[in-house]
Amino acid sequence: MTQTARLILDVPAHLHSVAQAAVVHSLSTDQTNAAGTLSIVVQRSKDGWHCRASYAGAVWDLHDRDITASHYDEGDWLRREKELVRLGVMRVLQEALELPTKPWGILTGVRPTKMLHNMWDRGFSLAYMDTLLREIYGVSTKRRQWALEVAGHQRALFPEDPNRAVSVYVGIPFCPTRCGYCSFAAYPLATHGHLLKPFVQGLVEEITALGALLKELAIPVQTVYVGGGTPTVLQGDVLQQVLDVIEAQLQTAECSEYTVEAGRPETLTEDTVRRLRAAGVGRVSINPQTMRSATLQRIGRQHTPEDVEHAFELVRASGIPLINTDVILGLPGESLADVEYTLQRLEPLRPEHLTVHTLAWKRAAQWESQKERKHVHQNLSHVMVEEARNTAIRWGLIPYYLYRQRDIVGGLENIGYGRPGTESLYNIVMMEEKQTVLGVGAGAITKFVTAAGEVSRQANPKCPATYAQNVGNLVDQKKKRFEALLGV
Ligand code: SF4
Repeated sequence: MTQTARLILDVPAHLHSVAQAAVVHSLSTDQTNAAGTLSIVVQRSKDGWHCRASYAGAVWDLHDRDITASHYDEGDWLRREKELVRLGVMRVLQEALELPTKPWGILTGVRPTKMLHNMWDRGFSLAYMDTLLREIYGVSTKRRQWALEVAGHQRALFPEDPNRAVSVYVGIPFCPTRCGYCSFAAYPLATHGHLLKPFVQGLVEEITALGALLKELAIPVQTVYVGGGTPTVLQGDVLQQVLDVIEAQLQTAECSEYTVEAGRPETLTEDTVRRLRAAGVGRVSINPQTMRSATLQRIGRQHTPEDVEHAFELVRASGIPLINTDVILGLPGESLADVEYTLQRLEPLRPEHLTVHTLAWKRAAQWESQKERKHVHQNLSHVMVEEARNTAIRWGLIPYYLYRQRDIVGGLENIGYGRPGTESLYNIVMMEEKQTVLGVGAGAITKFVTAAGEVSRQANPKCPATYAQNVGNLVDQKKKRFEALLGV
């Protein structure tokens, strides 16, 4: 645990919590005992903000004159004061304690690219955005390049209006077993299988009601994403029931993308892929996370690397055109050689999409985090990310979405790569919050997006039983909020 108790902050009262959070962020991945007094002085003048941070002989000064430019308003001034405090804290702690630099500097949010889109919308040039990322946010050269590259690519794909058409996320909260790192709604079938039937009844009811609402409002569905959980734990008639209601209620002529996650490859059968193909599914996600058998067992998965290869064969034979595959870097016990092995073994399968996650420590996960943390090659995680990126690019894929998570190993990021022209619009609009996404099913989150870019959320209960009992209320709330958003 990071020790901050002996560090005294000499900071103006209104900035104390900002500085405190910056200390925690700066020391978060280092086992460092920080003691002594860290001082921050911030002064405002007609020439901008001047900030001085000092700690243990390290002094950092910045006079931000840029903030006086006419495109900045009072809200920007107030935000910049806090940003400078965060930057000052990070800089002096790094210098005095010889800490490694943070790839994303002071940025702690999940969506660094969303911040860039806001700047872009305000007319900032690429060069100026790069300068801000470097000077104010302390972002490394590589992450600046990557974030600008992803954001630039996404802009051409953004819908013009967040509500002319919508996307729909369908959450199926069951899995064969629960992975050690998982924080999603994912109930093992062996213990919760009895909830499947009432859940599917509730899901059919919710999709039918929302489909009717969308038809009434004449709003088409542009993308459908079925996730979870592992949706392909549903088999035979039960799966068909869900596919049928999606087809009847959500698939309009404008529906250009239909993805189903088959995260656990052992759940895919010939019958399942045939049904998916017949229903119009165009993209399936097969997620090995690693191709090392020992790691698969360690993280609580029952399948083998051969199951992954077999699942690819089934999907290819069915004619479904696109396969995404997820890997996780920084899994306990895995070295760079293991990551290289996983990528080499995936290469002949030629996935059209590769999603590269860096392990994140989630509170809802089952792992005894402290015990497993010792087995993560934290220092190698940067190299693993580079290796995965180089591999994806060599496969002809380009990075097209990027996000971060709390407590992610090495302070790094997750990046989605795809073959140009096949990028998942759902991933882009969901990540950048550029279109209303209606969530149906257990644990699904609805994001209402206004024309001005404001986002509000409504979460369905994660528990399948609670969900099934409350579908009527959930639909009513969604209906009211969506109609209010549209001014109907
Ligand atoms: S397959 Fe995915 S959703 Fe299911 S338990 Fe593992 S991480 Fe969670």
